Amino acid sequence: MRKAKDNSRISKRYYRPSTTTCPQCGAPLRRRSTLWRKYVITLDGRLHTINLGYSCSRPRCSKAKVVYRSQEADRVCLKGSSFGFDLMVQIGWWRFWDHRTLDEIAALLQAKQLPVSRRHILNLIGDFLALLRAAQSAKIETHRAYFQRHGMVISIDGMEPDQGDEMLFIVREANLDLTLVAETLYSSRADLISARLLTPVKALGFRVRAVISDADKNIRRAVTTSLPGRPHQACQVHCLCEAGQPIFDADRALKTDLRRDIRAQWRPFGRQLSQASADDPQTAVLTDYAEVLRDALRADGLSPFELAGLALYAKLERMETSLRRCQKKRGTRFWRSYWTLPRFVTSIAPSISGSTINATGSLN
Ligand SMILES: [Zn+2]
Repeated sequence: MRKAKDNSRISKRYYRPSTTTCPQCGAPLRRRSTLWRKYVITLDGRLHTINLGYSCSRPRCSKAKVVYRSQEADRVCLKGSSFGFDLMVQIGWWRFWDHRTLDEIAALLQAKQLPVSRRHILNLIGDFLALLRAAQSAKIETHRAYFQRHGMVISIDGMEPDQGDEMLFIVREANLDLTLVAETLYSSRADLISARLLTPVKALGFRVRAVISDADKNIRRAVTTSLPGRPHQACQVHCLCEAGQPIFDADRALKTDLRRDIRAQWRPFGRQLSQASADDPQTAVLTDYAEVLRDALRADGLSPFELAGLALYAKLERMETSLRRCQKKRGTRFWRSYWTLPRFVTSIAPSISGSTINATGSLN
């Protein structure tokens, strides 16, 4: 069952027209009605936005019936949408300029605690592309000379929010990062890809020099039929993501084990630290270490390159080195007995090195 959203602690944002006086007679404007109110998810979180309409306060003014409204309010989100333009543009940026996958975007939004489902992300990408496309023919026109001279290298990418649902396909010119076609297809059949994606590209009238896509059979078949003889390369980002997955999975398992073991070792120490005297200079130092440790345990990875398990291991090593220095200088009495890296880690990843601490001995 769907749970109703808790709206009790959501901040309100009111929008009013920028003018405060009647342009006809100069009398002050007066609040007349609420034009709309809705909950909007923006990059700042969920907001309750309220757009207020104002009109002239003089009943006999010839423009007394005119309602003045905030232009800013109309720039918050698309009509009928409850997602802010800022969120839509950010998602579009992550997708097409940062080359993030749908999963990565979902993870990034979750980290910001924004309640946006995979389905909504895909819809927002669709909206983003629709706006982008509106300006696209003018953009293509400005690059006409370039395309006539160098032709186009096109990339084809299909994204599906869930298995078996419709897919959003995007065809882009890879050298200039320009979106040429964006279509939602209810099937990824080769003939549909040809007709709906490749035919419009061919209709632009420029030479297509090469194609990049993932290894999808239907895309390959469509390209062979519509653009025979063109070099067709597998996308390296897709290959890297696929190749990196087993390593990412192994790293996640390492991170889970490390977290569990460190947390188990941490508990008795945390209790001792919370009871330690605040006047003891060691307490402040150890509290800092504890903060760093807590932060390190919270960090998450991102496939394929950000490996949280290895990063955590390296951080723990740096902490250990730093603590040993501390102990040499002036013994940290009770930490000594608790601080040992779990033995299994040393057997799993024996050669992680390169960890350093700076001259002051602090961790960064
Ligand atoms: Zn007036």
